[in-house]
Amino acid sequence: MAEKKGAAATAAPETQGGSRIGFENVSVAYGSLVVLDSLTLTVNPGEIVALIGPSGSGKTTALRTVAGFVRPSAGRITIGDRDVTHLAPYDRNIGMVVQNYALFPHLRVEENVAFGLRARRLPEDIIRSRVPESLAMVGMAAYAKRYPRELSGGQQQRVAIARAIAIRPQVLLLDEPLSALDAQIRRSMVDEIAKLHRDLPALTVLYVTHDQSEALTLANHIGIMRDGKLRAFGDTQSLFRHPPNRFAAEFLGRAN
Ligand code: ADP
Repeated sequence: MAEKKGAAATAAPETQGGSRIGFENVSVAYGSLVVLDSLTLTVNPGEIVALIGPSGSGKTTALRTVAGFVRPSAGRITIGDRDVTHLAPYDRNIGMVVQNYALFPHLRVEENVAFGLRARRLPEDIIRSRVPESLAMVGMAAYAKRYPRELSGGQQQRVAIARAIAIRPQVLLLDEPLSALDAQIRRSMVDEIAKLHRDLPALTVLYVTHDQSEALTLANHIGIMRDGKLRAFGDTQSLFRHPPNRFAAEFLGRAN
């Protein structure tokens, strides 16, 4: 793991222990409704992969199988060399940020960020250094004593990101993290996430979004889903320039 901040910025992601996310023929069904249909996908260590696709295509479900909140009906999820398919969410070393930040309203910013560290029973001196360090990474160090209600939506989402990375996860799952924000703040948050990834290059990121420009700006690779299936996958530039099939071309051609 990228415990040592300075070193992480220059070394190759692999040498910092970044973890690969693997979906191997992962299916999810609710009764007779198949929402994920034999998904096979690899997110390489230190990469950002964006999953895009129409609403209801299974993007969030895919992400939640990695988090451990949705149990596949078939297939395997791996993180690094570990088969995590049957591990509880807490045992997966994952940070996650969702659309509606869900900070604890009664806790100050610093206590929100410390929460996962305390739950993992990390020593107090590590918590004392990790909290401001994580807040600084998202430009929120000055807001440690505030309560969530005293922050704007964008600031709250920054704190949610700080909370997710405070545990120094191998994997960061972002589920429409910017959808609730207005357009201008969204753009500055995209820059913020790009900077964060430069600071933590080992972090492997799976990013679910309906916003193609976010995917285009941030992702190394993009997967396009429809009806629970991965319909196209490729490096970001090639996929946009040369969509591999008609569905991908039509989907990417559509205005946001
Ligand atoms: P996306 O993120 O692409 O919008 P989702 O993964 O949220 O898609 O949903 C895919 C499909 O699975 C949708 O049709 C949705 O209604 C269905 N679905 C998601 N969660 C459940 C659930 N807990 N029970 C039943 N159906 C669900």
